[in-house]
Amino acid sequence: MKKMPARKSPSPPEEKSHAPPQVLSAECPICHKELAIIQIPETIPLFGQIVIQTLRCSHCGFKFSDVMSTEFHDALGFEARIAGEADLHTKLVRNSSGTVEVPELGFTLEPGPMAEGFYTNMEGLLERVDGILNFLSSHADTHEQRERAKELLALSKKCRAGKMPFTVRVLDPFGGSALIGANVKGFRSQNRMRRN
Ligand SMILES: [Zn+2]
Repeated sequence: MKKMPARKSPSPPEEKSHAPPQVLSAECPICHKELAIIQIPETIPLFGQIVIQTLRCSHCGFKFSDVMSTEFHDALGFEARIAGEADLHTKLVRNSSGTVEVPELGFTLEPGPMAEGFYTNMEGLLERVDGILNFLSSHADTHEQRERAKELLALSKKCRAGKMPFTVRVLDPFGGSALIGANVKGFRSQNRMRRN
């Protein structure tokens, strides 16, 4: 049997199916009243479908978010050098199982049961970094730690303005997290092991 002849002209699958958010309800883990679970599906180029899920309790204020990938990805790690304004558009999908690092800013987001998932760009990531550094600059245990947090905060501002290059690394053993952009390098588990 012959293979299919010429295919149709390449039209990328850009059906932007904006599926409506789903709202479910469940018992709040804190106050045991009813809370809302809001699920927003989103299609991300080069990655696939994700669902952004937010739990929100109007009774006690409990809020928790995660991002779930609805497709299987076997890439373990991603790295991107963010070297200018254009690179700030690089996207980050972070599932609660993913580790995110920005070594230049001493930043590591560890996975865990209370880890939140999110979908953002580099500006959104740096906002999260700033939030933690702001907290540390006034609440860290020692004077040195508070001063260090202030230094890193100044560097983070430069990064956000595209004036200081920085590195972003994402590791996820379940493949639920990713960096998406022109300068992103991805590692599959086997390639990664072969490097040693
Ligand atoms: Zn509650």
